[in-house]
Amino acid sequence: MRNIISMSLPDINEEDVSSVGEVVRSGRLALGPKNEEFEAAIAGFVGVKHAVTVSSGTAALHLIVRSLDLKTNDEILVPSFTFAASVNSFLYEGARPVFIDIEDETYTIDHSGLERNINNKTKAIMVVDVFGHPAEWDEIKRIAEKYELKVIDDSCEAIGAEYKDRKLGQFGDAAAFAFYPNKQMTTGEGGVIVTDDDSIADMCRSMRNQGRGEMNSWLIHDYLGYNYRLDEMSAALGVSQLKRLDDLLKKREAVAKLYTQKLTEFDWVRPPVVKPYVHMSWFVYVVTLAEGLNRDEIIREMEKEGIPARGYFSPIHTQKYIRKLFGNLEGTLPVTESVAKRTLALPFHNNIRNEDVDIVVDALKHAVMKYA
Ligand SMILES: *Cc1c(COP(=O)(O)O)cnc(C)c1O
Repeated sequence: MRNIISMSLPDINEEDVSSVGEVVRSGRLALGPKNEEFEAAIAGFVGVKHAVTVSSGTAALHLIVRSLDLKTNDEILVPSFTFAASVNSFLYEGARPVFIDIEDETYTIDHSGLERNINNKTKAIMVVDVFGHPAEWDEIKRIAEKYELKVIDDSCEAIGAEYKDRKLGQFGDAAAFAFYPNKQMTTGEGGVIVTDDDSIADMCRSMRNQGRGEMNSWLIHDYLGYNYRLDEMSAALGVSQLKRLDDLLKKREAVAKLYTQKLTEFDWVRPPVVKPYVHMSWFVYVVTLAEGLNRDEIIREMEKEGIPARGYFSPIHTQKYIRKLFGNLEGTLPVTESVAKRTLALPFHNNIRNEDVDIVVDALKHAVMKYA
């Protein structure tokens, strides 16, 4: 059956459309004022000195890795319960992942597993603010300082989230946000690096543009760089979306609250847990099924009723390409492996109607009853 409710949808209005149209008409389609405007707006929103726009969240993470000079055989502590880009960003440079298990409530990296995995090859921690919930930043920063590790914040799912009243993007040496169309705000494809560190910002700026120095003429290259530039149409959409971000996040929060309100009565499912001292930026709405339920059968049953649902995430340490590189790691991360079998992302976007939430919850309930 065709899906009657979308899994995710960008929230685009007429102002977004006309701001992109204006750029197209202007003829200035790359390397122009919209990128500068977007960077200034992001830096202001997050509360950091620098923002550097790039062509994707993955590109943002990769440039941070390059700027920190992480390379072959350096070890990076990273959760496995994440999107592949968190790990790929440093595999490109030959650095090695040391996978750390997650907290069983927020699904962010378990800081209590960090210290025992630190040795003289350990150079950095890649932190992920999973589903828009901030990681346990006080503890992570304490450990990073003690062992002099670099900290990268993969905040690609968490723009606008706050940890103890401070916006994400202010934690770590640098952070990445992403603007793919399923994220809280979008530029189509796109991402940004945010940092207070002048040299990281300079390196990222140079490397997104083929390693050119800021002052150099067009064909002078200081570093091995990339074409990771964001085009002007995308930047214009970003400027327009960012103006409404607070509003977009409020809409998402309202949908999440409604789901949670409807789901709390059932003992076979746990709605997302939000720590009291964080402000969540809702990226996806992921519930956890009780042990013993067959999640994949439940997904198939819901899809028969036209309601999409997805397992989320599929752990990175069990992916085929990681097994080829590092051998069979199955069984090494008990919380991650247990959680990943039971998590289920429900349809979630800004314009889901109240009655849609009821339809999804009913479909989930029927599917669970059928396989209970
Ligand atoms: C979306 C996302 C990214 C970046 O994805 P792109 O598609 O490259 O923009 C990185 N890490 C996480 C955890 C993400 O969810």
